[in-house]
Amino acid sequence: MKYIIIGGDAAGMSAAMQIIRADESADVTTLEMGGIYSYAQCGLPYYIGGLTKSSDDLIARSRDTFDEEFGIDARVYHKVKAIDGEKKIVSGVNLKNGQSFELSYDKCLLATGAAPIIPPFDGADLEGIHTLKTIPDAEAIIEDMNENVSTVTIIGGGYIGLEVAENLVEKGKTVRVIDQAERLGSAYDKEISEQIEQEAKRHGVEIVTSESVDRFEGEDRVQSVVTNKGTYTTDMVIVAIGVKPNTSMIDSSHVHVADNGAIVVNAYMETNVPGLYAAGDCATQYHRIKQKNDYQPLGTHANKQGRIAGINMSGGSQPFQGIVGTSIMKFFDLTVGKTGLGEKEAEDLGIPWDSLSFEGHSHAGYYPENEALLLKILSHKETGHLLGLEAVGKTGIDKRIDVAATALYHKMTMADIENLDLSYAPPYNGVWDPIQQAARRMK
Ligand SMILES: Cc1cc2nc3c(=O)[nH]c(=O)nc-3n(C[C@H](O)[C@H](O)[C@H](O)COP(=O)(O)OP(=O)(O)OC[C@H]3O[C@@H](n4cnc5c(N)ncnc54)[C@H](O)[C@@H]3O)c2cc1C
Repeated sequence: MKYIIIGGDAAGMSAAMQIIRADESADVTTLEMGGIYSYAQCGLPYYIGGLTKSSDDLIARSRDTFDEEFGIDARVYHKVKAIDGEKKIVSGVNLKNGQSFELSYDKCLLATGAAPIIPPFDGADLEGIHTLKTIPDAEAIIEDMNENVSTVTIIGGGYIGLEVAENLVEKGKTVRVIDQAERLGSAYDKEISEQIEQEAKRHGVEIVTSESVDRFEGEDRVQSVVTNKGTYTTDMVIVAIGVKPNTSMIDSSHVHVADNGAIVVNAYMETNVPGLYAAGDCATQYHRIKQKNDYQPLGTHANKQGRIAGINMSGGSQPFQGIVGTSIMKFFDLTVGKTGLGEKEAEDLGIPWDSLSFEGHSHAGYYPENEALLLKILSHKETGHLLGLEAVGKTGIDKRIDVAATALYHKMTMADIENLDLSYAPPYNGVWDPIQQAARRMK
């Protein structure tokens, strides 16, 4: 059986490893347009900040390892330009020598990820304007961030923009974040994002909200960002306003895609074209609470979907169980997390909800290092089922988010959560976990 995998990172190589484990005679070719395989994009902000010393530390397995240890024909600089789903042929160009290639397959996986969005702003091609997606992107930022760069403007106050902001402050830069939304961290409810803004201000980050970028100005190099309301001098810009699925190689009149271009897959990671699969940031994810396909481009989903694609491509039958929308980030001294729906999402879906903001403590109040935390819990107004949890604080946030993510997966009600047998000793919790205290008040 001939397998072709397009994209050599999280989803693609998770699939490749499953295939070679399940099918000893598998003929696996992976086509990657970049020069690096299997690396952690999630670590890029910390590489820029200097916490992760070498980009090699971000690479899980090299191309040579896949090739020599696992017998995968792992090609670099091979950019796929088209897929003929009927003839089962993939074609493209070798970016190193300019030669075209054409390969046939029995099963093919699209694991091409997503690319940063840069709107066609005037001046977007000036020097000093960056995006962050790959190791070469991070290296370009580090190289560019010399002593002449003192002010950096980040466009976009989502998790990537915020993680980069923190790391640039750690590097001694003056950082400004511009977002067209009313607040930074607008994926969170207001109570939570207010704490993100306070933390940003506490660390000297300039916040510009409710302004949209119009253009960049400068001679050869960017010197200012012009919004609909003002002009901001800057030495460097990082654009982090979201990503778009890399799906230009498919013919969308044959392969079903969502409104944003993500490839629609079923639970087995199959597209509507026989033999063609998709996984990770280029594909949709079924959302268990929304009960429909969604698009949340995260490494957690890419690894799971890739693994499931590989299992099913090589003869297995395992459905992807879907996501509940869980994420977490560090922002200076805070951890901020979310699982399930926020108020606006519930509103947009027409789900009747109740919510509560609850101020609790990470562990027993009398034990040292006890920290305040804020939970925002959402439940179904009629059934009492948990709909979502957002949390912010200095410590203990990951634990509460993961309990809530588990509760969401198992469709638990407020009463179920109150009855959970959660661990307790003073250095770790109060006798009633803050989630249980919040759930009790919601009953
Ligand atoms: C700065 C940053 C921080 C992040 N932090 C987190 C985090 O904390 N937690 C989390 O869950 N997620 C995080 N993510 C997201 C996570 O990294 C992605 O969701 C994940 O990498 C997606 O994996 P993927 O395999 O689907 O796509 P990618 O990792 O993007 O890999 C796709 C590969 O396909 C290749 N490709 C694309 N088009 C073609 C083509 N035409 N031909 C050949 N090859 C092609 C690309 O070169 C790329 O190597 C972060 C992302 C970034 C950028």
